[in-house]
Amino acid sequence: MNDALYLDYNASAPMRPEVLDVVTNILAAPHNASSVHSYGREGRRIIEQARSDIAAIINVPPAQLIFNSGATEANNTVLHHFAGEKIAVCAASHLSILDAAEHLVHIPVDENGLTDLTALEEILKTEAPALVSIMLVNNETGAIQPVTNISALAKRHGALVHCDAVQAIGRIPVDINALGVDFISLSAHKIGGPQGVGALALGLCGITPTMLRGGGQEKSARAGTENVAGIAGFGEAAKRADMDQYQSLQKMRDDLETQLSAISPEIIIHAKNAPRVAGTSMFSLPGISSETLLMALDLEGIALSNGSACSSGTVKASHVLLAMGASEDVASSALRLSMGWNTTPSDIEHFIESWSKIYERLKDRIKTHA
Ligand code: PLP
Repeated sequence: MNDALYLDYNASAPMRPEVLDVVTNILAAPHNASSVHSYGREGRRIIEQARSDIAAIINVPPAQLIFNSGATEANNTVLHHFAGEKIAVCAASHLSILDAAEHLVHIPVDENGLTDLTALEEILKTEAPALVSIMLVNNETGAIQPVTNISALAKRHGALVHCDAVQAIGRIPVDINALGVDFISLSAHKIGGPQGVGALALGLCGITPTMLRGGGQEKSARAGTENVAGIAGFGEAAKRADMDQYQSLQKMRDDLETQLSAISPEIIIHAKNAPRVAGTSMFSLPGISSETLLMALDLEGIALSNGSACSSGTVKASHVLLAMGASEDVASSALRLSMGWNTTPSDIEHFIESWSKIYERLKDRIKTHA
């Protein structure tokens, strides 16, 4: 059993025990929700309950929520629908947006990772994109984008708006109408639900982007036998998401950053002047690579990451920090610490003690490098 201290909630939040119970109980039965027998009908009922619970937290009618395998699929589905038309995307977006289509127009961000609204307006005027895709909360820095302003601007120029709200649900309010967006991507495993399940929510534009065909599931919007246990776990996690509890992490995050700066004065804390979600901190120690820091922390029994979790397991310079104007050196020495429902102040104390030891060992390298 791995008992490392887990501070990587933005990669995948640990499943809540109640969610695990729901998922394992449902997995034990052959619930193919397309079957007409009692198991099938029960599967259908479980899916519709979860659909209502999840739709409620983003204020969409349940019929406008399409289950799928996660936000990578949701993001790809939306961008593929607009392939052949111009699409403008935030330069600090997740790679499931940036790599989902070709010839994307990148909307620049400022040094705090916030969308440059003047540049966006220019892009809207000169490029006339059919779609603007923006994330609500950045997965690396935790910066909160002014999505309501962005969508108002986009709408004035006739563009539809897609919002990747994966890192926002359960942390800050997400209301499809208040945000004024046409599509929202969601993922279960960022809120203590299981991996491999997510959803695409549809706004009022009347378009249903579809990528997988070949079955009538999800009203023919997403073919494939539904992941009943995963969807149920997603619903349970959505019901249990507690924004007040999440907000209480802010004090721990602020204390952490104060102590990090006191111990290691060279540290750069990213997006510090942007509105940020409470439980995320991203920082760099220029001159010491993220890989070295991650390995040193791993030896101390602490699990965090350098930004977005990379499928190859390698550590690369953060494209988000590069988009924010950071140097290659700063972008390749970044760490992201992210907390959630099971993080305690003593976890942060433990992290700080280990950081202090590691810093003492490596600080000469910072000086020689500087
Ligand atoms: N978008 C953001 C902002 C994310 O943080 C992630 C997960 O890393 C994704 C999309 C992809 O989500 P999933 O793992 O459900 O495919």
